[in-house]
Amino acid sequence: MKIEKSKSLFSRAKNFIPGGVNSPVRAFKAVGGDPIFFKSAKGSKMVDEDGNSYIDMINSWGPMILGHANEMVEEAVIQAIQHSPSFGAPGEREVLIAELICEMVPSIDRVRMVNSGTEATMSAIRVARGYTGRDKFIKFEGCYHGHGDSFLIAAGSGAMTMGTPDSPGVTSGTAQDTLLAPFNDLEAVQKIVEENKGEVAAIIIEPVAGNMGCVLPKAGFLEGLRALCDAEGIVLIFDEVMTGFRLAKGGAQERLGVIPDMTTLGKIIGGGLPVGAYGGKKEIMDFVSPEGPVYQAGTLSGNPVAMAAGYTMLKYLFDHPETYGKLESNTKKIVAGYKESCEVLGLNYTINQIGSMYSMFFTDKEVFDLNTAKHADTQLFGKYFNLMLNRGIYLAPSQFETLFVSSVLSDQDIEDIIRANDDSLRDIIAS
Ligand SMILES: *Cc1c(COP(=O)(O)O)cnc(C)c1O
Repeated sequence: MKIEKSKSLFSRAKNFIPGGVNSPVRAFKAVGGDPIFFKSAKGSKMVDEDGNSYIDMINSWGPMILGHANEMVEEAVIQAIQHSPSFGAPGEREVLIAELICEMVPSIDRVRMVNSGTEATMSAIRVARGYTGRDKFIKFEGCYHGHGDSFLIAAGSGAMTMGTPDSPGVTSGTAQDTLLAPFNDLEAVQKIVEENKGEVAAIIIEPVAGNMGCVLPKAGFLEGLRALCDAEGIVLIFDEVMTGFRLAKGGAQERLGVIPDMTTLGKIIGGGLPVGAYGGKKEIMDFVSPEGPVYQAGTLSGNPVAMAAGYTMLKYLFDHPETYGKLESNTKKIVAGYKESCEVLGLNYTINQIGSMYSMFFTDKEVFDLNTAKHADTQLFGKYFNLMLNRGIYLAPSQFETLFVSSVLSDQDIEDIIRANDDSLRDIIAS
């Protein structure tokens, strides 16, 4: 495979952009090799600067759920741009998308649009703190909530200790208000709440984790968090930046039947443009400025072009609920193919899947939290990633990411993915 133009662009990029990329996950640091630069994409495929074509299994980390360059979204964007890319004042599209979001996700009475998932989670925590008058919040090891300071806290020396910053530049003062628990460990959460009685403003969680690979909540775990929050006056925040509009039209909360107080959204909500949102119960969202005292603002928030793209995508998903059946059956076919290969080859890799999210972990142990995810052989994954890439399958460049299936995969695409996986696993065994 020729990737000369990508290589040349990457070396130029490194002269002017930190690490040559505008978001670290795009670099191939975890898998070896240089990132591919892309020129265009349509439907299930992306084409790189050298003209190589790949079946895309990330779909822009979620937003391209209907495939790339969807015509309806394209049309809506062009129409919006022709009426000016920005007003800096209210417009009808903001009303339309707010009404639609509240209808699709019934736990949301009021919603505020922002420009990224990071902004959504940062703002939601601020509102939860303003609403409860408490400072601390609990997050889970391995869950990612964007790059806001208070979320960049790693697992220190166990769940019961105070967090320590995961990144230079995050102060210990900020870190000490973030409490950490292992995913799927309700008892640990109960203990933390007990030790910080009356001080915990919020529990924030990815209801299905996607940022340590795909990790599902165990039966009763989310229900347990819900009950605990009710008993202790804690705001339960579902970070559905990834799962929102993906696992069901109403996200993981609809699919799993556990209802949070607040929800953060991103990725699919912008149809490929930079959009995030946070929302929830009226009594909580009434704390948001200018209705209430908690300040949060954005020059380009509710941008008409972004709203046009987002609204068009959400409306399609709302009007075509059968899309979710198609997404799930595409994904199940792929996973069944993987499982068959593993069985034939005598491999016992763990595959986690729900709806159109899945991960194959290079371990034979069950994966239900960050510790168990770390059992995976990341070196082996790096090898596998590059073997798949050479066969024209573009995976997320890390073992600790979920894959996102789109609704436009053809039967041929699915066959190609399964065969590439089988061949790549055979290559690994042979080496
Ligand atoms: C991607 C992601 C974010 C951050 O969103 P950005 O738009 O990248 O800022 C937050 N939470 C979750 C669960 C995510 O997957």
